[in-house]
Amino acid sequence: MSITTNLNNIKSSLPENVTLVAVSKTKPVFDLMEAYNAGQRIFGENKIQEMTEKYEAMPKDIQWHMIGHVQTNKVKYMAPYVALIHGVDSLKLLKEINKEAKKNDRIINCLLQIHIAEEETKFGLDTIELNEILLSDAFKNMHNIKIVGLMGMATFTENQDQIKKEFLHLKSIFDKHKELRSENFQLNTLSMGMSGDYELAISCGSTMVRIGSSIFGNRNYQ
Ligand SMILES: *Cc1c(COP(=O)(O)O)cnc(C)c1O
Repeated sequence: MSITTNLNNIKSSLPENVTLVAVSKTKPVFDLMEAYNAGQRIFGENKIQEMTEKYEAMPKDIQWHMIGHVQTNKVKYMAPYVALIHGVDSLKLLKEINKEAKKNDRIINCLLQIHIAEEETKFGLDTIELNEILLSDAFKNMHNIKIVGLMGMATFTENQDQIKKEFLHLKSIFDKHKELRSENFQLNTLSMGMSGDYELAISCGSTMVRIGSSIFGNRNYQ
């Protein structure tokens, strides 16, 4: 199956309120251009250097989403153009994004990553850490970032009940915090679901799915 066919099949299966991020990490620009020519304008990458090279090589009406873990010292390379950073999981990182956004005279949209999986290895905040950030004076004084939603990754398991439980847990955190609104905190996006679990994620309230291998085929490396 071609990238165009895969993309069209997935797009036609998504409800209207769900945004598709085409996860193109490790894939060559040639493959991304096929998706672009089929109408895709949102791409997700997990390495800042690779994303920046693709940003430079490709049309400028693309929205680039950083979906990977972000190292503070690399924020500056994407600050001029990144459309959404999914994996924000510390106040320190938010401060750096705010600083670099300010230098570029922009407001950078971010999602806070919440830890919902059983595995210790997955990044993300627990609800206590989330609230600590939101209540901090440092956060209230950040004018160049905007938290527009939450992101989470379920445990890597075949157990659908467990994945569902984790997605519903994230959805409940999302709903609770949606009511808190301020200049830099306005939740409207819930990023959850990948190739293997996006239908389940949507049934649990996802509004943004991050799909890679079902569009571009399997990756040879992470
Ligand atoms: C790689 C990746 C995806 C896409 O995974 P697929 O299983 O290929 O759809 C989604 N989200 C994150 C954070 C990723 O790193």
